[in-house]
Amino acid sequence: MNQKDFERTDLERLVRETRPLAAGGRVATYIPELAGSDPNALAVSVMDGGGHLLEAGDRDVRFTMQSISKVISLSLALMELGETEVFSKVGMDPTADPFNSVMRLEMVSSHVPQNPLINAGAIVIDSILPYDDPQRAFFAVREMARRLTGNPEICENEAVYLSEKRTGDRNRSLAYFLKSVGTITADVEAVLDVYFRQCSLEVTVADLAVLSATLSMDGRNPMTGEMVLPRKICRTVRALMATCGLYDGSGAFAMKVGLPAKSGVGGGIIASVPGIMGIAVCGPSLDNQGNSIAGIALLERISDEFGLRVL
Ligand code: GLN
Repeated sequence: MNQKDFERTDLERLVRETRPLAAGGRVATYIPELAGSDPNALAVSVMDGGGHLLEAGDRDVRFTMQSISKVISLSLALMELGETEVFSKVGMDPTADPFNSVMRLEMVSSHVPQNPLINAGAIVIDSILPYDDPQRAFFAVREMARRLTGNPEICENEAVYLSEKRTGDRNRSLAYFLKSVGTITADVEAVLDVYFRQCSLEVTVADLAVLSATLSMDGRNPMTGEMVLPRKICRTVRALMATCGLYDGSGAFAMKVGLPAKSGVGGGIIASVPGIMGIAVCGPSLDNQGNSIAGIALLERISDEFGLRVL
């Protein structure tokens, strides 16, 4: 990042200009614990390949990763099992369906979720993680989250975890269907426990900017200097983010922002500028696809003003 071209005052201005757009969306309420999020909160953080961090807006806001954690469990599965094994259990193509869609699982004869970034795909990924018990599997995902963010204190938000565990019947139905057709062979409740826990990992935008920068820098965490992931895995993950990262909003996002990205219903979005920087935003008010409404607008403005688009 050229610090002269890209300053905190620019980011503060863009946050100010896009914050009012939150009024056009709504916070997620289907996970009851998320209903209390501040719809008008908006924060952004950027980390470049040299480990320089910029933050603006409500940078102290803590939120749960939700579906952004799918990038982490996918990275771990690719590390542990390799691409051939992983993509025999999930596809690599986008869907035009919502993130929690049930319909297509039955329609596709292989009963394989179309990609690892929709709920069904992420649940399958958790089901194949090669650990003896669900607690170890979750600890491995959390450890990967800590290394990618460079924050050894990343932990689950117990209230959000329990809230989703209590109400997550849509995900239960996806998982039990997948078990009934043999796509999942492990114990469904144990797999869902890993999934609900990883979705509840709590972060700030700065944590996610580091994670995104690590993916952008082909696996080297620019803050800690650790080589966390091989380059090939980062390429695979970024390609899936570019095509599938915002579900049925992925095409529109590619046109507006032009960067590989992944969203979560906690309001976070990570966006990657390969070889250059990682960006993270959080704004809990969501559009109809479950993506941060002001967050997308903010990323669009950042991408335009600084000429960052790669798609
Ligand atoms: N935990 C959420 C769910 O399974 C994650 C969805 C999301 O962030 N899009 O519904």
